Amino acid sequence: MKRWIQLIKEWQTRPLGDILAEQFKRFLVWWKTTPPNPWSEELDEALKTTDAKLLCSRCFTPQRNGAWFCPKCGAAVGPYNNIMPYLNIFSTGEMLRAGAGSKLKRTPLTIIGYVMVSLMEYLIFAPVFLYRFVRNWNRQKEVVETEDEASEDSSLL
Ligand SMILES: [Zn+2]
Repeated sequence: MKRWIQLIKEWQTRPLGDILAEQFKRFLVWWKTTPPNPWSEELDEALKTTDAKLLCSRCFTPQRNGAWFCPKCGAAVGPYNNIMPYLNIFSTGEMLRAGAGSKLKRTPLTIIGYVMVSLMEYLIFAPVFLYRFVRNWNRQKEVVETEDEASEDSSLL
């Protein structure tokens, strides 16, 4: 968002063609640049071995082969949960529970996504979900503010 505001401010002082040409060059550099591989060769090879364990992406509990959901936290761990007609219901429910009941990074995109998914999935009950979503959001703000105050207090010591 800051980048867009900066571009609009530049537009007042520079021709639009120069700005667009510069942005196009930046896009080409981004497009051609290959990001570095964050994983080491050893880790990559360890993942490809047959005795590698599947872990839950939320709680890191080892999963048995063929598991659809984590028995500890309920997160979807199966490879095709989100596209299988029957399991999709549970995956969607797990995703919506995560929005209403756990720590979740809230960005404008996730908020719009949760509102749209709740309206599509639970049209009649969407207001109930959205009430819990906003209530949990406010609760998370309070937790973040108290954590910030605690970190400021610890930094003063
Ligand atoms: Zn789990």
